[in-house]
Amino acid sequence: MALMQPGPITYFEGQYVPVEEAKVSIMTHAFNYGTGLFEGIRGYYSEEEENIFIFRLKEHVDRLVRNFRILCMEIPEDAAAIEQICIEVTRRRGFKEDVYIRPLCYKCERSLGPAVRGVASSFCCYVIKLGDYVDTQNGLDVAVSSWRRLSDNAIPSRAKSTGSYINSSLASTEAKQAGFHEAIFLREDGTVAEGSAMNIFMVMGGKLITTPPTADILVGITRNTVMQLAREMLHLEVIERPIARTELYVCDELFFCGTGAQVAPVRSVDRRVLGDGQPGPVTKQLQRLYFEVVQGKVDQYRPWCTPVFEGK
Ligand code: PMP
Repeated sequence: MALMQPGPITYFEGQYVPVEEAKVSIMTHAFNYGTGLFEGIRGYYSEEEENIFIFRLKEHVDRLVRNFRILCMEIPEDAAAIEQICIEVTRRRGFKEDVYIRPLCYKCERSLGPAVRGVASSFCCYVIKLGDYVDTQNGLDVAVSSWRRLSDNAIPSRAKSTGSYINSSLASTEAKQAGFHEAIFLREDGTVAEGSAMNIFMVMGGKLITTPPTADILVGITRNTVMQLAREMLHLEVIERPIARTELYVCDELFFCGTGAQVAPVRSVDRRVLGDGQPGPVTKQLQRLYFEVVQGKVDQYRPWCTPVFEGK
């Protein structure tokens, strides 16, 4: 993806600099040990309002700074400053289309040894444009991965650490090589965790069921959004409980959700077609609602959308 644009459009070591100047050493701790924590945040461009709305910025930054505790990170920027930096890089980049913001906190010291406490951290942030990350219209063909999800006592998924994405890469690569669109991770105990970079929901008897925060998942902001929209707008019962592998084959509907994936219907699992192979009615309703909400079109949820350009 082409990232080069002149001018100070990225945040690095306390200032805004051109992308070419935002470089780390090969000796950097995070480069050697995967000790970075990051977020992926979407901004949706509204042609009508000539503005970009960053979706649930506060919640993303809140998750990031809470996770600092897991990796013993301390940086000069607090949550409010990080929010402002996310807005500022987006403003500076000036895209008139949907974007993806990547704030990243990493162990910046040039030191040897995989410790986290007492190792200095730094913060950087950049933005790229991003359309659909997966097909959201036709339904995805997915496979249960032979790779297990990292357990909370190994590399905690909730931390959204750079190193943990080796696990995601292995699963998604395996799925794609075998001709599927995406993978579903099982946990060590054989129950379902999530997708390679997305949470999973199943519809069964009109109820929405998803795996709990103790199931080695990243507790997604989109997951929380979907749960809230389902309860408040569609008056559905939402249940967090372990999901068995074979429930994926027999459920009424299945979908992924995540900042990148948005709300993406699944049409088959391990070549077992769900229903008539079309996105189901509950998934479609939730997806429609989700897209309206992220574009700032639903008043009730407008506070979730942070405008990049003031006074518009
Ligand atoms: N699980 C994993 C492993 C992810 O990488 C993501 C994407 N950030 C998600 C779930 C969904 O999280 P969110 O809705 O906060 O983007």
